[in-house]
Amino acid sequence: MFLEPQAKKGWIEVVCGSMFSGKTEELIRRLKRAQIANLNILIVKPKIDVRYDEKDIVSHDASSIPSIPVQSSQDILEMAEGMDIVGVDEVQFFDEGITQVCEQLALQGCRVIVAGLDMDYTGKPFGPMPQILAVAEYVTKLHAICVQCGYLASHSFRKIKTSQQIELGSQDIYEARCRICFDEGQRQQEAMLRERQHTSSN
Ligand code: ZN
Repeated sequence: MFLEPQAKKGWIEVVCGSMFSGKTEELIRRLKRAQIANLNILIVKPKIDVRYDEKDIVSHDASSIPSIPVQSSQDILEMAEGMDIVGVDEVQFFDEGITQVCEQLALQGCRVIVAGLDMDYTGKPFGPMPQILAVAEYVTKLHAICVQCGYLASHSFRKIKTSQQIELGSQDIYEARCRICFDEGQRQQEAMLRERQHTSSN
């Protein structure tokens, strides 16, 4: 359980993990505690994520908290004037500038809490995540449960085959898998693809 340090200085917290690991729930939990403490809070998310609602951060278990969709990481700096806490959801979708923005906010005395996917559907580090993870003071890595074997899941497996890194969706498109089951799934998809190419060329 993450307990807030009692300091007036700024810092960066990262909550990361696969899909269905409870990242947004954990972000909301921390932000709600800050609301109780009467702190000034700014909550943003990238404009790209319109899965559930334009303005709210909504987690898969439907608890929500109002947030502002922003286009670019630079926009956050201006909006963060006078804030004690800045929360960022789906941080992996932001541009590379987001790392520097987080660092600047922390230097200004802000507590910065970001949540996002650490890996994309191919198992590769997602967007600016590696950089943010490196400079953060606190990192919490959450796990889902592998739907194949019941072990801890670290990977987001895409059940349909498309090559776009960003394919918004939920349980219809993705499932949480452990490393082994993720690898097996990828091999199966590749084999199926080869099979299809083989039959169509004959
Ligand atoms: Zn598994």
